[in-house]
Amino acid sequence: MRAPTAASVEKPTEGIATIGHFIGGREVYDPSGGFGDVWNPALGVRSGRVSFAKQPDVDAAVAAAKDAFPAWSETPPARRATILFAFREALCARTEHLAALITAEHGKTLEDAKGEVVRGIEVVEFACAIPQLLKGEYTENIGRNIDGFTVRHPLGVCAGITPFNFPAMVPMWMFPIAIACGNTFVLKPSEKDPSLSLELARMLVRCGAPAGVLNVINGSKEAVSALLDHPDIKAVSFVGSTPVAQFVYTRGTAAGKRVQALGGAKNHLVVMPDADLDQATDAIVGAAYGSAGERCMAISVVVTVGDEVADRLIPRLKGKLSALRVGDPTQAGTEMGPLVTGDHRERVRSYIDVGEREGATVVIDGRRHPSNAAPGFFLGPTLLDRVQPEMRVYREEIFGPVLSIVRAKTPQEALTFVNDHEFGNGVAIFTRDGDAARWFNHHVQAGMVGINVPIPVPMAFHSFGGWKRSLFGDHHIHGPEGVRFYTRLKSTTVTWPSSIRTGSSFTMPTM
Ligand code: NAD
Repeated sequence: MRAPTAASVEKPTEGIATIGHFIGGREVYDPSGGFGDVWNPALGVRSGRVSFAKQPDVDAAVAAAKDAFPAWSETPPARRATILFAFREALCARTEHLAALITAEHGKTLEDAKGEVVRGIEVVEFACAIPQLLKGEYTENIGRNIDGFTVRHPLGVCAGITPFNFPAMVPMWMFPIAIACGNTFVLKPSEKDPSLSLELARMLVRCGAPAGVLNVINGSKEAVSALLDHPDIKAVSFVGSTPVAQFVYTRGTAAGKRVQALGGAKNHLVVMPDADLDQATDAIVGAAYGSAGERCMAISVVVTVGDEVADRLIPRLKGKLSALRVGDPTQAGTEMGPLVTGDHRERVRSYIDVGEREGATVVIDGRRHPSNAAPGFFLGPTLLDRVQPEMRVYREEIFGPVLSIVRAKTPQEALTFVNDHEFGNGVAIFTRDGDAARWFNHHVQAGMVGINVPIPVPMAFHSFGGWKRSLFGDHHIHGPEGVRFYTRLKSTTVTWPSSIRTGSSFTMPTM
């Protein structure tokens, strides 16, 4: 094992919490790259500072992962699975603790944070089946007395770069499957809520993972660029906004790496005239304002088919939103917490100004919500009506508690709105009509579709991913696509000397 980095120092003891890196099985702190602020969004106070990795830190993490790879990749899959079983047990036992860490740095409610941990655990459970998932294919007699078989090999050192909005689940979309396949991993979580990833790395080591199998480096663009250019990294998984996803995909593939880069979203929910509007209202409120709209699968646009649907839906939404419990995310019963940072809150608030200037009707104005007076980064729920496709509030991802209503005249026009949008992550339709649902599902340009289901996130044993500018790369994430992404095929053809000898052949072999 190489020493982590010459610049590493022991954790400073005074002042606010300092969050470092986890390299080769131990925590290291390197002040040379500077620090970023970590906030408690519900209190609006700075709770810590996170080290920003520089090239030597990235080199040290990749070296630790590279050193761990030979032994880890030769460890039988069933043995690797036992470590993941232990990790799963530890995650279940510590769900409350992990949720509290998430809430403290992200601001989502504790119940929501627990749900996120559970969705991450489901991926670990999937990865526990790795001996089954890595089984190859075997064909006897592909030619006379010749057999052929195909197996999957790990790639080497893989990297993951993750966003702030799911600090537990998104890293767990990646590293459990990557390491179950025999790879080693370097994770670069969001600098806004970095503590959870370090905790996961500590837990994995305690569950028996050798040092270097999972490393965590913190930081921002410099750390990401160093990962993308590093010759010893074979594959990069990214989840975040579209401009960064495109950058990561372009730079990573130019450096010869396999890259899957999941980007931003503008998820539409189409309400047909025959929909159960009470059911749709409940679904919309949860999907648009849960986690303060900071979900890549949040519903941010409702498309009503016909004015009458909009006119019947809006009073129902107003009723629900006026009763929405916004406040302390650690309190039971809170339905919506703050936004992640003060800067992000201002960005989201400015979109409401933009929408108003562009001519949208502000039906409910989050800028005037009583929760805004609290010291945290709160912004009340906002509902905009008569949003037009050319408006910025329609075209751009806001990533906050702002829902737009767009009025379509026909189902075809609703479908065209969805398909013409640059993003194609998730989409939903609410209807009682099976024909309409089938028609929509077949023609819609999105990677994940819900029929009377507002947030159609696939389970861990399926794969997650969008279309269009919501995904750069060939593979969706986790599930069977994750196993394909983190492995490469080897196909072997075999015969034995006792087989019939035919002498040299100078033509393409055929049966
Ligand atoms: P982000 O793109 O700002 O950051 C994502 C990661 O990239 C972070 O680790 C960050 O440190 C790094 N990064 C940021 N700017 C960079 C730059 N210029 N160069 C290199 N690296 C950079 O995203 P975010 O604000 O943390 O997360 C919210 C975004 O993520 C939203 O757009 C949301 O839709 C998206 N998201 C998508 C999915 C999905 O599955 N498609 C899931 C979750 C979140």
